[in-house]
Amino acid sequence: MRYPTLFLLANAVLAQPSYDLLLKGAHVIDPKNKISDVRDVAIRDGLIAAVARDIPAKQAGRVVDVSGLFLTPGLIDLHAHVFAGSDGVGLAGGESSIYPDAFALRAGVTTVVDAGSSGRRNFAHFKKTVIDRARTRVLAFLNIGGVGMPGDDKEQNVGDMDARGAAEVAIANRDTIVGIKVAHYRGPDWTPVERGVEAGALANLPVMVDFGEFRPERPFQDLVLKKLRPGDIYTHMFYAPVPMLDEQGRLLPYLFEARKRGVLFDVGHGGAAFEFRQAVPAVRQGFPPDSISTDVHSGSINAGMKDQLNVMSKFLNMGMPLDDVIYLSTWNPARIIHREQLGHLSVGAQADIAVLRLERGRFAFVDSWGAGMEGNQRLSGELTVASGRVVYDLNGRTRDRWDKLGKYQPQGDPSWDGTRGGARPRPLTRSR
Ligand SMILES: [Zn+2]
Repeated sequence: MRYPTLFLLANAVLAQPSYDLLLKGAHVIDPKNKISDVRDVAIRDGLIAAVARDIPAKQAGRVVDVSGLFLTPGLIDLHAHVFAGSDGVGLAGGESSIYPDAFALRAGVTTVVDAGSSGRRNFAHFKKTVIDRARTRVLAFLNIGGVGMPGDDKEQNVGDMDARGAAEVAIANRDTIVGIKVAHYRGPDWTPVERGVEAGALANLPVMVDFGEFRPERPFQDLVLKKLRPGDIYTHMFYAPVPMLDEQGRLLPYLFEARKRGVLFDVGHGGAAFEFRQAVPAVRQGFPPDSISTDVHSGSINAGMKDQLNVMSKFLNMGMPLDDVIYLSTWNPARIIHREQLGHLSVGAQADIAVLRLERGRFAFVDSWGAGMEGNQRLSGELTVASGRVVYDLNGRTRDRWDKLGKYQPQGDPSWDGTRGGARPRPLTRSR
């Protein structure tokens, strides 16, 4: 009886579609693989299964027409604050962290990197209450301060900046911790930067620095020319106090020197750290960022920053080509945090995908000081897939029409994600 059973099984397998989901006809931008052209993208078992010019529709359980749109790897936001809620002692991550699923997926972001909201004393709590529960992939820079960013004087406590302790927590959590963060320091000395770099060296991880208060005792030029190592990151590159231009409005040469050394420059827009009068000349004169990130928190999300796509749109309207804007929001941030398995659409990669609409019209954008800039292009989120699951679908593209589904059943599978054939609607919840 063995052989006939096997034979039947083989037949059943052959009759199954090869792919769970097929996204057809978008302009695919995949900078790692040097693709910027119309392609179909097929997904199976949560992974990218094929990227090709014409994948037959009959090979997929569900086919979605995304022509006229751009399809990119799921975006990576290198600087976010998502330690929301309480750490059991006080407000975690200050009062401004927000839960990642509340803002990321709808903007095409499938990976956020928390920038130091937690430290070695409360990282475990952060992991349990946010990281392990989010659908958005959350990675983290661990703050050199023991309790991260409570938003008070505890952040200034140099006595609680323990390089060895931070490195130990980072090493024990290599799956999640991608670097060390130094931030918000007001003192005249280099201690936090030095402890951060020491922890980074011990754990073999990059350091991201928010320089806090700019002080003459520790010049910014020394940070990027002497203190940081190749592969370390300065975030908030378009913050007003950063020495950027000379009297004639030309970029200062030390910036290029720092870049040549391998120091990386991240946007980290946030509520106060992005000015057009810094960013526009920098982009025009050949000093673009290495990564486009939000520094999202409950303040910046409602101010000039808004979301990852809005920040990306600013760079588009400053004249940066779309392919470059995508590169700085996908593959390059993945490389910066040494997560080369993310940020691209290679076959076998996690199926993290953003489908974006490039709107044309009259728009305007706002910086951290309330200045405006007009533009004629804006990116918006249309469809987001995370590890093969549809997690955001603005126009119901993955859904069957309501009048094609037959009789509503009073049961259903609430986890149904729209990727399988034989579609089942979401359960009809009866009012109780
Ligand atoms: Zn920040």
